[in-house]
Parts: sequence; C-alpha cells; structure tokens
Amino acid sequence: GLQAGIVGLPNVGKSTLFNAVSISAKAQASNYRFCTIEPNVGLVDVPDERMDKLAELVKPNRTVPTQIEIVDIAGLVKGASKGEGLGNKFLANIREVDAIVHVIRCFEDENILRDEGPINPVGDKDIIDTELQLKDLESVERKLQRTEKMVRTGDPKVKAELEVLKTCYAHLEQGKNIRELNLSKEDQAAIADLFLLTEKPVLYVANVDEPSMHTGNKFSEALKAAVAKEGAQVIVMNNSIEQQIAELEDPDDKALFMEEYKMTEPALNKLIRATYQLLNLQTYFTAGVQEVRAWTIHEGWKAPQAASVIHTDFEKGFIKAEVISYNDFIQYGSEAACRDAGRLRIEGKEYIVKDGDVMHFRFNV
Ligand code: GDP
Repeated sequence: GLQAGIVGLPNVGKSTLFNAVSISAKAQASNYRFCTIEPNVGLVDVPDERMDKLAELVKPNRTVPTQIEIVDIAGLVKGASKGEGLGNKFLANIREVDAIVHVIRCFEDENILRDEGPINPVGDKDIIDTELQLKDLESVERKLQRTEKMVRTGDPKVKAELEVLKTCYAHLEQGKNIRELNLSKEDQAAIADLFLLTEKPVLYVANVDEPSMHTGNKFSEALKAAVAKEGAQVIVMNNSIEQQIAELEDPDDKALFMEEYKMTEPALNKLIRATYQLLNLQTYFTAGVQEVRAWTIHEGWKAPQAASVIHTDFEKGFIKAEVISYNDFIQYGSEAACRDAGRLRIEGKEYIVKDGDVMHFRFNV
C-alpha cells in the first residue's frame, strides 16, 4: 500500500497523532476486516462522503472504504544525517514512504521539554529540512561522482543526467528542497533511483493548543507564511483532542465530545483526506447490493489497469466496463435508472477512469 510517514522533532505531538490514527484504525478494522498493524504502521480508512452517499442509495450489506498506511517515524533529531540518535535508521525509514506528514509544535507548555528554546515553528521545520537536505546531498554527490566518470563515453543521456545532478546539488547546497525545483518528468527520471527525501510531497500539521484549534495562532500563521511558497498545505489541529476522540468507543459519546469542541468531524479525517490527495491518488467506486466500495488508482489509469486493483484476472480478461459518473448516479439514484436515462456508458480498454466513476467490469475468466 501507499505510505505516508509522520516526522518531526521530539515532543511535538507525533506519537499523540499516531495514537489517534492507530486507535481509529483498530476500531475500523474490527468491523469487517482483518488487518495486522505493526507497532509503527497504521492502516487507516480514507473518509469519503461520496461513498456514504452511494451507500444511502444502494443500501448494500457493507461499505468498504479505501485505505492508506500511516507510519510513525519517531526519533529525528538535529544531527540525524550524521547518525545522531539512530538518525540514519530514521532517515532510511523516510526513504521508504511516498509522502511526508511533518508535525510542528505550535503550542506552548513549559512542562513539555523542548531542546530548541522558545516555540519556533519555522526554525523547527528548518532543522528537519536541513537534516533531510544533508542526506540528499550525500546521495546526489555519490551519483555525481559515478556519472562524471561515465561522461567520457560521450553518451548524451549521461551528460543530461549529469546536468540534473549538478542542478540538484547546487539547490540542496543553498538549503532548499528538491520538490521546489519542479523538475520535468524527464529530469525526475534521472534521479528517481535516489529516492531523495526532500523530493517527497509534504504537508504540515500545526499542532496547536485547544483554544486555537479552529482559529490557529501566531505560530501556525508563521508556519503557513513560511511554506506558502512551496505550495504546501498546513492542517491546524490539536493532536491531544484527536487522540481523545479516537479513544471514545461509543458513537454518541464521540458526537457529544465533538459538539463540545464545536467540531463537525475529527480533524484527523481532514488530515487523512489531504494525505490521500498528497499521494496523488484517485478513487473509483463499485456499487453492488453486496458492497459499495471505494478503490484507489492513480490519475491517468485506463480501465483494465483500474480493474486489476480488484483482481489481477480482471485486467487479463477485461472485455469492457459499464461506467456511470458519480453525479449521474446520485442524480438518477440507481444503476437501472441511469441505464434507462442513457447515462450508463460502455467503455473499452482505452478508457481513462475518472475520479468518482462508478464502474462495473465485464471480463472473461
Ligand atoms: P512526540 O515526541 O513528537 O511523539 O510527542 P508526543 O506525542 O509524545 O507528545 C509529547 C507531549 O506533548 C506529550 O506529553 C503529549 O501529551 C503532549 N502534547 C501533544 N499534543 C499537545 C497539545 O496540542 N498541547 C499540549 N499542551 N500538549 C500536547
């Protein structure tokens, strides 16, 4: 599955956030699916109100949302790139994830230890960024040296690769992240084997105190201003409250608790949806009486590839797909009504599945 890793300095609220995720995940899993959760990996449902609306119409036996994996990458400290505090292990963990959720402390509390002096969200972000950049510099430098040797062969591809590596190196040396370079697809391919840490998409969690959870505070504002040029999203939330919501088992208790804090849903839901978008994922649905289910695909996938998410045999034996766009399904209310209204399309192998499509695959076994 696709993974997002939670990173941040010590005592910023990472474990609290991860607890909220994994407690919710366990509660969800016990309903209908077996799922193993490693100590630092939570498999979490992606909330999608489109699935809920389809279920209201179809009234299936069960609904199955799509999921993503959240990994707790604790232990990053200043000096991690030099191996400080098991730093290399944690950096290796970051290399394996597809996106980063960077938690930043935006609350004051003198009882909760902080090595870096007064609360400083932008400074904290820079500390982590610097460690990741230093690690990327190592990776780029190693490949640069190899590529420089090969350039004598006169291969134009190698020469182009060398240019990309030099650009990356200079950029990192200026204390900037690779994702800000907006490399072309071609240039990205030249460094894809490096799995650079600062190339991974990122979003920030501004962990604020309870009075600021709806409004933000001067710390979260400073963070927003600092990341605006990266185009990164900042989610303002209170991780402790999220953990408390997750811990409430009774839905009525949950609702009451959230009402007290003037919340319409857990901020965690917002975070998970934002992470799903960050991973550049799309959803299509199947809507039968047995189950209404959300399936994850990448943008641009054709119908047979999308079908393979359900079963690999679906791709091999693909004949055609019956497709109803989400809005049509909601408007007409059922597959049969869509068919009668001419809103059910028959699509072939070349059809590019759209976000929200309700699909029915026909295939040979
Ligand atoms: P980690 O080291 O980043 O994983 O941080 P933890 O999640 O273990 O949190 C460190 C401490 O801060 C714990 O005592 C948490 O209860 C506390 N904490 C987490 N979030 C908040 C918050 O929003 N406000 C306050 N005051 N304390 C928090």
